[in-house]
Amino acid sequence: MQLSHLTDKILLIDTKKLVISEREVTSRVLHHLKEIDHRKLYSEQKYSSLFDYCLRELGYSEASAYRRIVAARLLAEIPEIDVKIESGLLTLSNISQMNQFFKDSSTSEKRGILKKIEGLSKRECEQKLFQLSGKEDLPKDTQRRVSQDKVQVAIVLSDETMRELDKLKALLGKNLSMDELVQFMAKIAIKSVEKNKFKQVKRLRKVLSPAKVGRVIPAGLKREIYQRDQKCTNCGSVHRLNFDHRIPFALGGPTKKENLRLLCFHCNQRARIRAGLEIKERGKPTPVKRCG
Ligand SMILES: [Zn+2]
Repeated sequence: MQLSHLTDKILLIDTKKLVISEREVTSRVLHHLKEIDHRKLYSEQKYSSLFDYCLRELGYSEASAYRRIVAARLLAEIPEIDVKIESGLLTLSNISQMNQFFKDSSTSEKRGILKKIEGLSKRECEQKLFQLSGKEDLPKDTQRRVSQDKVQVAIVLSDETMRELDKLKALLGKNLSMDELVQFMAKIAIKSVEKNKFKQVKRLRKVLSPAKVGRVIPAGLKREIYQRDQKCTNCGSVHRLNFDHRIPFALGGPTKKENLRLLCFHCNQRARIRAGLEIKERGKPTPVKRCG
């Protein structure tokens, strides 16, 4: 499918329309599954269950099949949720999470809970459901050796720690594994503790020579920009941030505070396209992770 002939406006409008029809189709699929379930048609087709039918006949993954079946059965119990699924207020993922917590609750209780999880993200929904169920399920931190040089560690982290970790990952701009992330944090922490302990004066980064100043943004200036903006100045994202010249360097824009800003990867690419610059010509953007 070629879409490059579409104007930006049409492309955005079309995408919205498609998402609306996608949700409508999902809702219709649920109604159909509900009816197949009611008529037990899957057994006539020689499948052991609706789940089996969804996997082998319809080609859904296990998770997708499970979410759809849960939603279809809930639709039979609470018919008015189809409007909310179509509008995007209730997602299949949030509905199936709700089912895990409140499977045995009464229909009116489920109705009340669904109302409370409308419009929530997956993580917010999970949090809300824990709160509503009054469950506190905190396993203890555990360790066990899984090979000669590897230990499996299960730890319980607070939401605040998770947010901090997400922020760190976003700043680093890489998709690090937990092992790499912990190793990185441990190295920094050891360095910092050692520095204070032995009063070692180490210069972690070389100062840029004046000859290199031009397009390259000095570390101090990067810190200033980062502290001023903190997030993408266009969309507010904190992921994959880059330093961007408002007036592109290639078009004579200076490497000065007033001409610099933080943009996320996507807004940065978009800004280049708008400025009529080929992405390849300008080379790689200057990622925030280099901020010293
Ligand atoms: Zn952005």
